[in-house]
Parts: sequence; structure tokens; C-alpha cells
Amino acid sequence: MHELSIAQEIVNIVNQYLPENGNNSVRSVKVAVGKLSNILPDSLEFCFEAITTNSNLHGAKLEIEKIPLTVQCGDCNEKSDLEETIFVCPNCGGFNLQILSGRELNVIEIELDEN
Ligand SMILES: [Zn+2]
Repeated sequence: MHELSIAQEIVNIVNQYLPENGNNSVRSVKVAVGKLSNILPDSLEFCFEAITTNSNLHGAKLEIEKIPLTVQCGDCNEKSDLEETIFVCPNCGGFNLQILSGRELNVIEIELDEN
């Protein structure tokens, strides 16, 4: 399952950033997910919860911020957000599009419980 490997990846990243000697518990993890990554947020939340239940990340809440698919047209230079992943410029109908954002999968914030 796509989301399961992504959730595992998020857990790995979070663990890299946690202080080594602290007894910190993680309150929430915010991730930015691009539209092109084809992630179902509900499914990702479910997988994240499932794999963190018996770990140091138990109880951490996953917050998912969706990044729109933004392209720039090479023909008319217009920047647009695409609702569908159909690569046609909404302004001029051109196909000469460059992807500016929408492929991201970034952990952007980790909130710790302060003990
Ligand atoms: Zn265009």
C-alpha cells in the first residue's frame, strides 16, 4: 500500500529530528503533501496511527497540508493551479507546462509535548 510506505517514511524522518536523550512525546506532526503524490489523506492518517500505536510516537496526531499542483505555461507564461492532473494550460490550452509545485512530501513541523 502506497500510504503505508509513506507513513513509515514520515516516522523515520520524525525520529531523526527527535532529541536523543529526551523523554519527549510527540503531540503532532505536520506534513505537506503535493497533489501529484496521489495520497489519500484519510488512508495516510490511518496508516500513521497504525504503525505508531506501539512506538515512541504513540498518540501523535498527523496533520496533512495539501499542496496544490501549480504549473507555469511555457507558451503564455501564466501560472495556474490545476484541479485535475490533466496537463493543459487553463489560460491558452498549451501543453508546454512546467511543474512548480505538487510533488512534495515534506515534514514541516513536529510539535513536542513539553515535560
Ligand atoms: Zn498557457
